[in-house]
Amino acid sequence: MRPDYLTPLFRSVRSFKGVGAQIEALLKKFFALNEEEELIALDLLMHMPSQIIDRRRQVSVLEAQIGEIVTLKLHIDEHIEPIGKDSKTPYKILAHDNSSPISLVFFHYPKNWLKRSLPIGQIRYVSGRIGYFNNEKQITHPDYIVAERDLISLPLVEPIYPLTSGLSAKVLRKIIVQAANNLPQIPDWIDEKRLSQFGWPSFSEAMKQIHLPDSPSQAEINSKARMRLAYDEYFASQLTMQIIRSNLMRERGIERKFSGKIITKLKNALPFTLTRGQEKAIEEILHDLRKKDKMARLLQGDVGSGKTIIALMAMAAIAESGAQSALMAPTEILAKQHYKSLKPLCDKVGLNIALLSGKQTKAERKPILAEIKNGKVNIIIGTHALFQTEVEFNNLGLSIIDEQHRFGVYQRLALSKKGKMADLLVMSATPIPRSLVLTHFGDMDISILREKPVGRREIKTAALPISKYEPVIERLKRQINEGAQAFWVCPLIEESEYLDLVSAQNRFIALKKIFGKQVALVHGKIRSEEKQQIMEDFLAGKIKILVATTVIEVGVNVPNASIMIIEHAERFGLSQLHQLRGRVGRSTKESACLLLYKPPLGDIARARIDIICKSQDGFEIAEKDLQLRGQGDILGTRQSGMPGYRLVIPDIHQSLLQYAHIDAKQLIREDGFLNSERGKTARACLYIFRKEQAIKLIKAG
Ligand code: ADP
Ligand code: MG
Repeated sequence: MRPDYLTPLFRSVRSFKGVGAQIEALLKKFFALNEEEELIALDLLMHMPSQIIDRRRQVSVLEAQIGEIVTLKLHIDEHIEPIGKDSKTPYKILAHDNSSPISLVFFHYPKNWLKRSLPIGQIRYVSGRIGYFNNEKQITHPDYIVAERDLISLPLVEPIYPLTSGLSAKVLRKIIVQAANNLPQIPDWIDEKRLSQFGWPSFSEAMKQIHLPDSPSQAEINSKARMRLAYDEYFASQLTMQIIRSNLMRERGIERKFSGKIITKLKNALPFTLTRGQEKAIEEILHDLRKKDKMARLLQGDVGSGKTIIALMAMAAIAESGAQSALMAPTEILAKQHYKSLKPLCDKVGLNIALLSGKQTKAERKPILAEIKNGKVNIIIGTHALFQTEVEFNNLGLSIIDEQHRFGVYQRLALSKKGKMADLLVMSATPIPRSLVLTHFGDMDISILREKPVGRREIKTAALPISKYEPVIERLKRQINEGAQAFWVCPLIEESEYLDLVSAQNRFIALKKIFGKQVALVHGKIRSEEKQQIMEDFLAGKIKILVATTVIEVGVNVPNASIMIIEHAERFGLSQLHQLRGRVGRSTKESACLLLYKPPLGDIARARIDIICKSQDGFEIAEKDLQLRGQGDILGTRQSGMPGYRLVIPDIHQSLLQYAHIDAKQLIREDGFLNSERGKTARACLYIFRKEQAIKLIKAG
């Protein structure tokens, strides 16, 4: 149960002063809550100010700078009412201090209110932004007008919050202040050493400093208060992952027993020797499989680094131990490709491999499903449908997810439930910067393939303005005549007047005039059978140039293709360029990538193109990408329900993630059920960051 001391944070905002049904509905929408969800004090406390206004600057009119927000002590001299009913003329109030006159300007304000608030002959404190009009300083619609005796009510340091239309700054602030004035005492989940290391305030004190600051520096984005709360949020998410992990592990895995003789046979059957990185990753996986604990491992390797063969080795070990493996690809095409490349090897060493495809008829599926059920099949390849449909495994021992960085932690958990004791291997082709690995895969062990298979040459990469189109075509002609195959990638499918891009369609037509039947076009709108056919023709060498949109980005393997031309390269993201380039350079042949761009290049686009030309290392490129665009959307985070942060601003707070990771890991190691004093307060942190799901996973001692 949630500890009682958290109750004020979970209080419904409906009970707040000044909150009626309308405001509540508005706020709920603003904070993206469902209708059934209750709007609570925490939602408001988590709403961080975007700016802090310092009204402590009490200056003279003469000193006040245009555009600055200040508080002035003014003598009110005269009211000038607008003539007639012309709404364009404002109500103007003349005032002065010792240094200079100034006017206060109001459009559409109730006359009576103005007369009452700014009586002639009296002193008023007026706070607002200094403007300038007709050679004189003025304040239009001051934020605050108070008499001397009410000066205390003027918020001298005022947080300004992001707003939504229909919600006024004053109303929102009033509600937030109520929440901030009602913060409970909470025992701290951060250990004292960590607190004193950074000099952080408590959770409630931090909230108070941000929403009711004494000075702007308390509430700024890198203030101690903000840092502490960012840490808290990281901590809650790292704790969640550690809980999920220990939950996975608690359902004991099986000590897989195998001698490794099929693996040896496989190695002998391969036309190449494994790289050191591949050997090491296989070792790490086999070590995991032999242990009693379940495996939860992420294998990261750039495109073409040879992950599939590692998956096969793991599946061979599982087969030898008497269990089955499922390899899940993100698309039908890739599943088929895996099946085709693995089948001959499996045949050689006596492994039974089967493909389950959405394209198969019921009659085709039936015998396959039967063999999966009776255990005759050792290895099953398919898409995620493998885990959703009627598939019944005889004894699933290992689930492998390929190219699936779009999986959330809960989905991974659900997946591993299908095979109760199944080990789990996730393979990601998107090199992920370390900080993001912790954020998204903090619950997994990690193997990394850094080196490419030997014999691979660098993909020569160059950039040219599109004005060099003619010579590019001339060269392409020569290369095609010498037997090369090329991809030509364009960013859009149809010509758009607005974007002035050469679409794949138009490029296809232009190239067809030169190369005739040797050119084909694929894009997202083509029927998948047709696409399949074209890809097969390209693979077979019947087609020499494949014009494409980014549909070819993921996983496609056409070893003979050695030329990648990317048109409008300035429109592509860095990881995308790298992924696309990875489609070539898949054999020992010399490969090239040409980036055609349309000048003038913006700074970011130029930086991206420079990086791609200079580096082939996906991990380095990913780090640079992160720097260029912030956390951005490297992992497609937004669409995929990956953890989003409310308080954390990665660019500012990222350094705290590692501490949160270390602390969460240590806590779970020492107190897996969170029953100790500190464990209990850590539960409070999970409640605060709405990780109730994780708490449910902690089985009571
Ligand atoms: P990815 O990591 O992108 O999934 P793949 O597993 O598809 O890469 O491997 C790409 C290509 O490299 C395949 O044709 C594969 O047979 C080949 N390959 C894998 N390992 C090696 C190696 N050690 N030496 C040479 N070629 C290899
Ligand atoms: Mg692959």
